[in-house]
Amino acid sequence: MKESDSESKQEQIRFVLMRPTHPGNVGGVARAMKTMGLKRLALVDSLVSLPNEEATRRAVGAEDILSTADVHRDLDQAINDCRLIIGTTARKRSIDWPQLSPPQAAQKLWQESGHGAVALLFGQERSGLANPEVERCHYLVRIPTHPDYSSLNLASAAQIMAYEVFLAGHAPPASEPQGVPNYADQESMYRFYTHLEEVLLELDFPIARPPVVLMRKLIRLFNKARLSDEELQILRGILTAVQQHVAKKS
Ligand code: SAH
Repeated sequence: MKESDSESKQEQIRFVLMRPTHPGNVGGVARAMKTMGLKRLALVDSLVSLPNEEATRRAVGAEDILSTADVHRDLDQAINDCRLIIGTTARKRSIDWPQLSPPQAAQKLWQESGHGAVALLFGQERSGLANPEVERCHYLVRIPTHPDYSSLNLASAAQIMAYEVFLAGHAPPASEPQGVPNYADQESMYRFYTHLEEVLLELDFPIARPPVVLMRKLIRLFNKARLSDEELQILRGILTAVQQHVAKKS
């Protein structure tokens, strides 16, 4: 792979920190990323505002990652343009979500970064990712640990994942699949979910209101399918046709 291809892929891989509380960790994540050639850091609803002396100290030579970090109020702003979102988690979740190993996650991030933005989400130091944030993810990844203590420091988790991405970039598998479909981005998927929910309610589909649990199951189903832009347009067209049909009848 040409150096320039590799660099443009690195630009598309975003590490997103949810509500980080410790400046030292934010600096540590920047350093971890820089050692592995990654550049795009985003902070969401951060309790650490940049510039921050402690963060800069811990970043050591990676101040550029901090000074170019994107700061967002909510997660959607940070990932709307992403076609692949993977969440990291220290523990097994009560919600059952598709899982990848760290090397599998890194390979997907690397491969799909050639086709647009991809994100790896990290949870808050104390509480990790909240369930609505997990629902935004196509997959979850857990770094294997001793069973007695699975919770790594945030910057350590970022270091391991950045290293895996680095390995994936430098030793691509012999049989790299040809081409990645044009997956729909997250913003389009969420417009579709809103439309789907609207139609289900119009049809008096028997569900609780608001239909949180059903929608979570449907999001998981569509996450498994990984719709392309074209497939999403077909489904949106079907929903609109259903709405027009219902409107004509009533
Ligand atoms: N009690 C929290 C721990 C948060 S640690 C929880 O159970 O999720 C802060 C963040 O570091 C996590 O949200 C995750 O993004 C990352 N992290 C820590 N340990 C990890 C592990 N073993 N595998 C993957 N990510 C991990």
